[in-house]
Amino acid sequence: MIHVDGTLDTLYDEVLKRNPGETEFHQAAREVLESLAPVVTKHPEYVDAAVIRRVCEPERQIIFRVPWQDDSGAVQLNRGFRVEFNSALGPYKGGLRFHPSVYLGIVKFLGFEQIFKNSLTGLPIGGGKGGSDFDPKGRSDGEIMRFCQSFMTELYRHIGEYTDVPAGDIGVGGREIGYLFGQYKRITNRYESGVLTGKGITWGGSQVRTEATGYGTVYFLDEMLKTGGQSFDGKRVVVSGSGNVAVYATEKVEQLGGTVVACSDSSGYVVDEKGIDLSLLKDVKEIRRERISAYAEERGAIYVPGGSVWDVPCDIAIPCATQNELDADAADRLIKNGTSYVAEGANMPCTPEAVRLFSDAGVSFAPGKAANAGGVATSALEMQQNASRDSWSFDYTEDRLADIMRGVHDRCLETADEYGSPGDYATGANIAGFIRVANAMLAQGVI
Ligand code: NDP
Repeated sequence: MIHVDGTLDTLYDEVLKRNPGETEFHQAAREVLESLAPVVTKHPEYVDAAVIRRVCEPERQIIFRVPWQDDSGAVQLNRGFRVEFNSALGPYKGGLRFHPSVYLGIVKFLGFEQIFKNSLTGLPIGGGKGGSDFDPKGRSDGEIMRFCQSFMTELYRHIGEYTDVPAGDIGVGGREIGYLFGQYKRITNRYESGVLTGKGITWGGSQVRTEATGYGTVYFLDEMLKTGGQSFDGKRVVVSGSGNVAVYATEKVEQLGGTVVACSDSSGYVVDEKGIDLSLLKDVKEIRRERISAYAEERGAIYVPGGSVWDVPCDIAIPCATQNELDADAADRLIKNGTSYVAEGANMPCTPEAVRLFSDAGVSFAPGKAANAGGVATSALEMQQNASRDSWSFDYTEDRLADIMRGVHDRCLETADEYGSPGDYATGANIAGFIRVANAMLAQGVI
């Protein structure tokens, strides 16, 4: 930890003490606090008004029971969460994750990251996150629907287009958003389109929202490559995961001239030297909801059960699965294999040790809170369209996304420069994201 008269150390100790056992939240908080030393030196007013201390404490944390009946009629029980972290810049905004690993520490890490990510987009959105330890794998459509209805039967009283606007994340895609929206509409008797984003195109959704996180990450990478005088042309790329972010990162890499040679799921990975066949991948994952092994079998590609996709040599790595999926060992192998760019499509997929190794080896590294901000940015564009009862074309919306990602990229680099860490996207992202929120908090008084 970097010491600034002990201020940041003391704050980190307080985070540990107030949030016992929440290791992912500790990790996310530490990563941001470590970047803020030069900010504290330059702006003592943030310390005087306890802005950093307050930003580490969620404004509100909601935990609730989610009972539902499975297809056999048995009663199942899950736990629901919504952490409304910071509303200095706008309504709380951030996705819902349905995965058995979800507990308060994961929701808080994601909500905390979301504050700075949303700030970096330059759009008027605060930070929040939610979810449940519900495991959608192997569940029927009817079970998914009943779970979503029960989840929303509690959540509805806490959200609203001017209050808190959830979206998707791991395990929550268009199908789940549909069931959640339907139940919200039924309970409130209001067609309040702006209460959720990631809706279907015909009922208030935005073009490009489905593609936005993956596309945005690749736009960000494209700016990094240009900054280094390079392009995607002829580059070998490895993507982890095969969900929403991974699929659309792959699509954009291929559009820009790179080749994605490997992707994965939690059971194993696929190596496809000809380049991933996107229409087959979408069919397997999005329509049939099958495992990545089915892709390998039908395509005649190599399938490696278990193992690490980071063993596959590449110029560019895009982790798009989950937190802490790329550790020091994996980083070491990537560096030895000549990887020179890493951009986080997922939230916090690289461990702090991996990030340190990349930095020492001169690998250009983009943190998730900057590189994957395109998803939430396009959610904010969906909210704009809902508020004006309008719907924009795909091309217009994609241009806006590309523009926002260029802005996020430049803001990171300029801020890193200004605060004495040239080329360090992670430090630039943390400081630029923090300052916008901190100034709004100062202006709004002690609340
Ligand atoms: P999906 O549920 O669509 O896909 C997740 C993918 O990651 C799947 O291939 C899944 O494999 C794999 N995965 C999930 N958990 C694990 C795990 N514990 N170990 C190994 N693999 C795992 O999620 P998204 O694509 O939406 O999200 C991926 C990441 O991107 C997350 O970190 C999310 O927070 C982040 N993100 C998403 C945004 C969005 O708009 N969707 C916006 C910004 C960030 P399997 O099917 O086997 O579980």
